[in-house]
Amino acid sequence: MPTRTYRPIPVATLAAGVEVILPLHEIVGDRDGPTLGISAGIHGEEAVGVEIVYRFVTAFDLTGLAGRLLVLPVANPFTYAAITRTTPIDGGNLNRLFPGNPDGQLTEQLAYKMTEGFLRKIDHYVDLHAGGAYPTVDYVYVLNAEHLSRAFGSRLLYRPKETLMGTSISVTRERNVPSIVVELGGGDVDQSAYVRRGIQGLANVLRMLQMLPGDPVPPPPQIVLREIATLRPHHGGLLLPEVTEMGSEVRGGQVLGRVVSPYSLEELEVVRSPFARGIVVLTQLTPNVVEPGIFGYMIGNLATAES
Ligand SMILES: [Zn+2]
Repeated sequence: MPTRTYRPIPVATLAAGVEVILPLHEIVGDRDGPTLGISAGIHGEEAVGVEIVYRFVTAFDLTGLAGRLLVLPVANPFTYAAITRTTPIDGGNLNRLFPGNPDGQLTEQLAYKMTEGFLRKIDHYVDLHAGGAYPTVDYVYVLNAEHLSRAFGSRLLYRPKETLMGTSISVTRERNVPSIVVELGGGDVDQSAYVRRGIQGLANVLRMLQMLPGDPVPPPPQIVLREIATLRPHHGGLLLPEVTEMGSEVRGGQVLGRVVSPYSLEELEVVRSPFARGIVVLTQLTPNVVEPGIFGYMIGNLATAES
Protein backbone atom coordinates (compact mmCIF):
# COMPACT_ATOMS: atom_id res chain seq x y z
CA MET A 1 0.00 0.00 0.00
CA PRO A 2 1.22 3.56 -0.71
CA THR A 3 2.75 5.44 2.21
CA ARG A 4 1.12 8.74 3.04
CA THR A 5 2.86 11.60 4.83
CA TYR A 6 1.59 15.08 5.58
CA ARG A 7 4.40 17.60 5.05
CA PRO A 8 2.97 21.10 5.58
CA ILE A 9 5.28 23.87 4.34
CA PRO A 10 5.45 26.86 6.73
CA VAL A 11 4.69 30.16 4.96
CA ALA A 12 4.25 32.94 7.53
CA THR A 13 2.73 33.97 10.84
CA LEU A 14 -0.20 36.38 10.50
CA ALA A 15 -0.77 39.37 12.78
CA ALA A 16 -3.66 37.36 14.22
CA GLY A 17 -1.07 34.88 15.44
CA VAL A 18 -2.12 32.18 13.01
CA GLU A 19 0.49 30.06 11.25
CA VAL A 20 -0.13 29.84 7.51
CA ILE A 21 1.02 26.67 5.77
CA LEU A 22 0.93 25.08 2.34
CA PRO A 23 -0.75 21.70 2.91
CA LEU A 24 1.60 19.37 1.03
CA HIS A 25 0.81 15.65 1.02
CA GLU A 26 3.26 13.02 -0.13
CA ILE A 27 2.03 9.61 -1.28
CA VAL A 28 4.78 7.12 -2.14
CA GLY A 29 4.00 3.95 -4.09
CA ASP A 30 5.58 0.52 -3.68
CA ARG A 31 7.19 0.64 -7.12
CA ASP A 32 9.62 3.13 -8.62
CA GLY A 33 8.29 5.84 -10.90
CA PRO A 34 8.09 9.58 -11.47
CA THR A 35 6.73 12.28 -9.18
CA LEU A 36 3.39 13.74 -10.26
CA GLY A 37 2.40 17.07 -8.71
CA ILE A 38 -1.29 17.92 -8.36
CA SER A 39 -2.43 21.35 -7.16
CA ALA A 40 -5.81 23.02 -6.67
CA GLY A 41 -7.00 26.23 -5.11
CA ILE A 42 -4.39 28.55 -6.64
CA HIS A 43 -7.56 30.58 -7.10
CA GLY A 44 -9.55 29.79 -3.97
CA GLU A 45 -12.94 30.73 -5.42
CA GLU A 46 -12.45 27.80 -7.84
CA ALA A 47 -13.20 25.50 -4.97
CA VAL A 48 -14.42 22.43 -6.87
CA GLY A 49 -10.78 21.57 -7.61
CA VAL A 50 -10.13 21.41 -3.88
CA GLU A 51 -12.97 18.90 -3.51
CA ILE A 52 -11.74 16.85 -6.48
CA VAL A 53 -8.27 16.56 -4.95
CA TYR A 54 -9.68 15.76 -1.50
CA ARG A 55 -11.87 12.95 -2.82
CA PHE A 56 -9.20 11.61 -5.16
CA VAL A 57 -6.59 11.38 -2.42
CA THR A 58 -8.87 10.08 0.33
CA ALA A 59 -11.22 7.77 -1.57
CA PHE A 60 -9.67 6.68 -4.87
CA ASP A 61 -7.92 3.29 -4.77
CA LEU A 62 -4.20 4.01 -5.23
CA THR A 63 -3.12 0.38 -4.75
CA GLY A 64 -0.32 -0.43 -7.18
CA LEU A 65 0.89 3.17 -7.35
CA ALA A 66 4.31 3.53 -8.99
CA GLY A 67 6.33 6.60 -8.09
CA ARG A 68 5.13 9.42 -5.93
CA LEU A 69 2.32 11.96 -5.73
CA LEU A 70 2.94 15.40 -4.29
CA VAL A 71 -0.46 16.96 -3.68
CA LEU A 72 -1.33 20.51 -2.74
CA PRO A 73 -5.13 20.63 -2.21
CA VAL A 74 -5.25 24.36 -1.31
CA ALA A 75 -2.46 26.39 -2.91
CA ASN A 76 -3.73 29.76 -1.69
CA PRO A 77 -5.44 29.27 1.70
CA PHE A 78 -6.26 33.01 1.91
CA THR A 79 -8.39 32.93 -1.22
CA TYR A 80 -9.99 29.62 -0.29
CA ALA A 81 -11.17 31.05 3.02
CA ALA A 82 -12.39 34.28 1.46
CA ILE A 83 -13.84 32.65 -1.72
CA THR A 84 -11.83 35.10 -3.84
CA ARG A 85 -9.36 35.09 -6.73
CA THR A 86 -6.84 37.36 -5.02
CA THR A 87 -5.32 37.34 -1.54
CA PRO A 88 -7.34 39.80 0.59
CA ILE A 89 -4.28 40.98 2.57
CA ASP A 90 -2.27 42.29 -0.41
CA GLY A 91 -4.54 41.91 -3.46
CA GLY A 92 -2.10 39.49 -5.13
CA ASN A 93 -3.19 36.95 -7.76
CA LEU A 94 -0.96 33.98 -6.90
CA ASN A 95 -1.08 32.69 -10.48
CA ARG A 96 0.61 35.86 -11.82
CA LEU A 97 3.43 35.96 -9.27
CA PHE A 98 5.45 32.77 -9.84
CA PRO A 99 8.27 31.98 -9.24
CA GLY A 100 7.67 34.36 -6.33
CA ASN A 101 9.99 36.33 -4.14
CA PRO A 102 11.08 35.31 -0.61
CA ASP A 103 11.32 39.00 0.35
CA GLY A 104 8.25 40.24 -1.53
CA GLN A 105 4.62 40.81 -0.58
CA LEU A 106 2.74 38.01 1.15
CA THR A 107 1.40 36.41 -2.06
CA GLU A 108 4.91 36.59 -3.59
CA GLN A 109 6.29 34.84 -0.49
CA LEU A 110 3.57 32.19 -0.89
CA ALA A 111 4.50 31.74 -4.58
CA TYR A 112 8.17 31.34 -3.64
CA LYS A 113 7.39 28.66 -1.03
CA MET A 114 5.23 26.77 -3.51
CA THR A 115 7.92 27.01 -6.19
CA GLU A 116 10.70 25.71 -3.97
CA GLY A 117 8.70 23.17 -1.96
CA PHE A 118 6.50 21.79 -4.74
CA LEU A 119 6.99 22.97 -8.34
CA ARG A 120 10.73 22.26 -8.37
CA LYS A 121 10.24 18.75 -6.99
CA ILE A 122 7.88 17.26 -9.58
CA ASP A 123 8.34 15.49 -12.93
CA HIS A 124 4.76 15.91 -14.22
CA TYR A 125 2.14 18.45 -13.23
CA VAL A 126 -1.65 18.82 -13.15
CA ASP A 127 -3.10 22.15 -11.99
CA LEU A 128 -6.85 22.24 -11.37
CA HIS A 129 -8.83 25.42 -11.98
CA ALA A 130 -12.56 26.11 -12.36
CA GLY A 131 -14.91 28.87 -13.42
CA GLY A 132 -15.30 30.51 -10.02
CA ALA A 133 -18.13 31.34 -7.67
CA TYR A 134 -20.55 32.03 -10.59
CA PRO A 135 -19.14 31.02 -13.98
CA THR A 136 -18.84 27.38 -15.04
CA VAL A 137 -16.10 26.22 -17.39
CA ASP A 138 -15.01 23.03 -19.16
CA TYR A 139 -11.77 22.63 -21.12
CA VAL A 140 -8.13 21.53 -20.75
CA TYR A 141 -5.12 23.51 -21.96
CA VAL A 142 -2.69 21.87 -24.38
CA LEU A 143 0.74 23.20 -23.39
CA ASN A 144 3.75 20.88 -23.53
CA ALA A 145 2.07 17.50 -22.90
CA GLU A 146 -0.74 16.95 -25.40
CA HIS A 147 -0.99 13.23 -24.51
CA LEU A 148 -1.72 14.10 -20.87
CA SER A 149 -4.12 16.91 -21.80
CA ARG A 150 -6.05 14.51 -24.02
CA ALA A 151 -5.91 11.68 -21.47
CA PHE A 152 -7.68 13.75 -18.82
CA GLY A 153 -10.79 13.11 -20.91
CA SER A 154 -12.50 16.47 -21.45
CA ARG A 155 -14.17 17.05 -24.83
CA LEU A 156 -12.76 20.55 -25.39
CA LEU A 157 -9.05 21.37 -25.42
CA TYR A 158 -7.37 24.73 -25.97
CA ARG A 159 -3.97 25.30 -27.56
CA PRO A 160 -3.18 28.95 -26.80
CA LYS A 161 -0.78 30.96 -29.02
CA GLU A 162 0.88 32.33 -25.90
CA THR A 163 0.50 31.85 -22.18
CA LEU A 164 0.43 34.28 -19.28
CA MET A 165 3.53 35.25 -17.34
CA GLY A 166 3.88 34.26 -13.71
CA THR A 167 1.68 31.17 -13.65
CA SER A 168 2.70 27.99 -11.85
CA ILE A 169 2.97 26.41 -15.29
CA SER A 170 5.60 28.98 -16.29
CA VAL A 171 7.87 27.45 -13.62
CA THR A 172 7.28 23.83 -14.62
CA ARG A 173 7.48 24.49 -18.38
CA GLU A 174 10.82 26.19 -17.93
CA ARG A 175 11.98 22.92 -16.32
CA ASN A 176 10.47 20.92 -19.24
CA VAL A 177 8.03 19.27 -16.85
CA PRO A 178 5.02 17.93 -18.82
CA SER A 179 2.17 20.05 -17.48
CA ILE A 180 -1.57 20.37 -17.93
CA VAL A 181 -4.03 22.97 -16.72
CA VAL A 182 -7.59 21.77 -16.24
CA GLU A 183 -10.52 24.19 -16.23
CA LEU A 184 -13.50 22.24 -14.89
CA GLY A 185 -16.74 23.16 -13.15
CA GLY A 186 -17.57 26.06 -10.90
CA GLY A 187 -20.68 28.19 -10.62
CA ASP A 188 -23.62 28.17 -8.28
CA VAL A 189 -24.84 24.73 -9.39
CA ASP A 190 -24.45 21.09 -8.33
CA GLN A 191 -20.78 20.15 -8.82
CA SER A 192 -21.06 16.38 -8.38
CA ALA A 193 -20.71 15.54 -12.09
CA TYR A 194 -17.59 17.74 -12.33
CA VAL A 195 -16.15 16.10 -9.22
CA ARG A 196 -16.66 12.64 -10.74
CA ARG A 197 -15.04 13.73 -14.00
CA GLY A 198 -12.16 15.35 -12.14
CA ILE A 199 -11.41 12.17 -10.19
CA GLN A 200 -11.64 10.11 -13.38
CA GLY A 201 -9.39 12.62 -15.17
CA LEU A 202 -6.67 12.41 -12.52
CA ALA A 203 -6.84 8.61 -12.64
CA ASN A 204 -6.52 8.74 -16.44
CA VAL A 205 -3.40 10.90 -16.17
CA LEU A 206 -1.83 8.46 -13.69
CA ARG A 207 -2.64 5.53 -15.98
CA MET A 208 -1.21 7.37 -19.01
CA LEU A 209 2.01 7.88 -17.00
CA GLN A 210 1.92 4.18 -16.02
CA MET A 211 1.80 5.21 -12.38
CA LEU A 212 -1.40 3.20 -11.95
CA PRO A 213 -2.17 -0.15 -13.62
CA GLY A 214 -4.59 -0.26 -16.54
CA ASP A 215 -5.29 1.99 -19.49
CA PRO A 216 -6.89 5.45 -19.37
CA VAL A 217 -10.60 5.50 -20.20
CA PRO A 218 -10.69 6.57 -23.87
CA PRO A 219 -11.72 10.23 -24.15
CA PRO A 220 -14.77 11.35 -26.16
CA PRO A 221 -14.12 12.81 -29.64
CA GLN A 222 -12.08 15.92 -28.82
CA ILE A 223 -11.93 19.39 -30.33
CA VAL A 224 -8.73 21.44 -29.98
CA LEU A 225 -9.61 25.14 -30.00
CA ARG A 226 -6.98 27.63 -31.12
CA GLU A 227 -9.02 30.75 -30.47
CA ILE A 228 -11.23 31.58 -27.50
CA ALA A 229 -12.90 34.96 -27.05
CA THR A 230 -13.40 36.13 -23.46
CA LEU A 231 -16.45 38.37 -23.24
CA ARG A 232 -16.39 40.75 -20.31
CA PRO A 233 -19.47 42.90 -19.72
CA HIS A 234 -19.12 46.69 -19.69
CA HIS A 235 -21.99 47.18 -17.29
CA GLY A 236 -22.64 45.78 -13.84
CA GLY A 237 -26.03 44.69 -12.62
CA LEU A 238 -28.10 41.53 -12.84
CA LEU A 239 -26.97 39.07 -15.52
CA LEU A 240 -29.77 37.01 -17.05
CA PRO A 241 -28.28 34.06 -18.97
CA GLU A 242 -29.87 32.80 -22.18
CA VAL A 243 -27.38 30.07 -23.17
CA THR A 244 -26.94 27.71 -20.26
CA GLU A 245 -25.62 24.53 -21.88
CA MET A 246 -21.89 23.95 -21.56
CA GLY A 247 -20.29 22.89 -24.83
CA SER A 248 -23.28 23.88 -26.95
CA GLU A 249 -22.75 25.43 -30.38
CA VAL A 250 -23.79 29.06 -30.85
CA ARG A 251 -24.14 31.06 -34.06
CA GLY A 252 -22.78 34.54 -34.79
CA GLY A 253 -24.63 37.26 -32.91
CA GLN A 254 -26.61 34.79 -30.82
CA VAL A 255 -27.60 36.27 -27.46
CA LEU A 256 -25.67 34.63 -24.61
CA GLY A 257 -27.04 36.78 -21.80
CA ARG A 258 -28.36 40.20 -20.89
CA VAL A 259 -27.23 42.59 -18.18
CA VAL A 260 -30.16 44.51 -16.71
CA SER A 261 -30.27 47.15 -13.99
CA PRO A 262 -32.13 46.00 -10.89
CA TYR A 263 -32.43 49.74 -10.06
CA SER A 264 -33.88 51.43 -13.15
CA LEU A 265 -35.01 48.02 -14.53
CA GLU A 266 -33.56 48.94 -17.94
CA GLU A 267 -31.61 46.57 -20.16
CA LEU A 268 -27.97 47.76 -20.03
CA GLU A 269 -26.18 45.34 -22.33
CA VAL A 270 -26.71 42.32 -24.54
CA VAL A 271 -23.78 39.87 -24.69
CA ARG A 272 -23.58 38.13 -28.09
CA SER A 273 -21.43 35.36 -29.54
CA PRO A 274 -18.64 36.80 -31.74
CA PHE A 275 -17.99 33.86 -34.09
CA ALA A 276 -20.08 32.52 -36.99
CA ARG A 277 -19.65 29.05 -35.44
CA GLY A 278 -18.86 29.21 -31.76
CA ILE A 279 -18.85 26.76 -28.87
CA VAL A 280 -19.55 27.58 -25.23
CA VAL A 281 -16.43 27.09 -23.10
CA LEU A 282 -17.36 29.22 -20.06
CA THR A 283 -20.84 30.40 -19.21
CA GLN A 284 -23.16 31.52 -16.46
CA LEU A 285 -25.72 28.88 -15.58
CA THR A 286 -27.75 30.99 -13.14
CA PRO A 287 -28.79 34.65 -12.93
CA ASN A 288 -25.99 36.41 -11.05
CA VAL A 289 -24.80 39.76 -9.85
CA VAL A 290 -22.06 40.93 -12.24
CA GLU A 291 -19.51 43.72 -12.19
CA PRO A 292 -18.00 45.23 -15.37
CA GLY A 293 -14.96 43.35 -16.61
CA ILE A 294 -15.64 39.95 -15.01
CA PHE A 295 -15.31 36.67 -16.91
CA GLY A 296 -18.75 36.78 -18.50
CA TYR A 297 -18.50 34.21 -21.26
CA MET A 298 -15.79 32.37 -23.16
CA ILE A 299 -16.62 31.23 -26.69
CA GLY A 300 -14.35 29.01 -28.79
CA ASN A 301 -14.10 29.52 -32.54
CA LEU A 302 -14.98 26.27 -34.34
CA ALA A 303 -13.85 27.68 -37.71
CA THR A 304 -10.19 27.66 -36.60
CA ALA A 305 -10.36 24.55 -34.39
CA GLU A 306 -8.45 21.27 -34.92
CA SER A 307 -10.59 18.17 -34.79
ZN1 LIG B 1 -7.97 29.75 -11.85
